[in-house]
Amino acid sequence: MSIANNYQKTRKVIPGNVTIILAGKGRTNKEIEEVIDAGAEDLGENYVQEAERMYEVLGEKAGKVKWHMIGHLQKNKINKALKIFDVIQTIDSQEIAEALNERAEKIGKTVPVYIEVNIGDEEAKSGVKADYRVIESLARGISQLQSLRLEGLMTMEPQVENPEDSRPYFQKTKDIFDRIKDLNLPNVDMKYLSMGISGSYKIAIEEGSNMVRLGTVIFGER
Ligand SMILES: *Cc1c(COP(=O)(O)O)cnc(C)c1O
Repeated sequence: MSIANNYQKTRKVIPGNVTIILAGKGRTNKEIEEVIDAGAEDLGENYVQEAERMYEVLGEKAGKVKWHMIGHLQKNKINKALKIFDVIQTIDSQEIAEALNERAEKIGKTVPVYIEVNIGDEEAKSGVKADYRVIESLARGISQLQSLRLEGLMTMEPQVENPEDSRPYFQKTKDIFDRIKDLNLPNVDMKYLSMGISGSYKIAIEEGSNMVRLGTVIFGER
């Protein structure tokens, strides 16, 4: 199966209200071009430098997709990130939110952002601690920042052997999402729950995800 076929087949089985982010890390520009030509609308990148290179080689095609930052954002990469990304999915501290807000304000942009939740509280993963109080407090903080608009939560669940074992993590994330949404904070519009990858997206969607991030199932093994 070609990448274009994989994408179109997957797009058909995933409900229309669910956004598919193509996870582009480690892929060639040919692979990314193929999936854009097949109709992909959203591209996720983990690293600012890799995204910059891809953005350049794609030329006009870069403008056909929305660019999502799905990797950890470092403070010293904010300016470059703002040149490329339409959405930053990985806000995990008030400090990075404030730094991003300051830069966005300088260039007159309002940036859609999501809070990244480390739902398994794993040492090796970035994201906010999976503690509702901590997440609420960050959401309230971001709500005060005029050049950011909080629009969702993102999570990368722990690796499990049986996909079914990821279900409780998705339920927990959905619960936090609903509670933040119900706060009706000013300048916050909780629309997107970004969870589910190649091995887990079906379960994530069953548990309320409306944005999945797919690499392997579309492009093959890296
Ligand atoms: C790599 C990656 C994905 C996609 O993972 P696959 O298993 O290849 O589908 C999704 N989200 C993030 C943050 C990633 O780094």
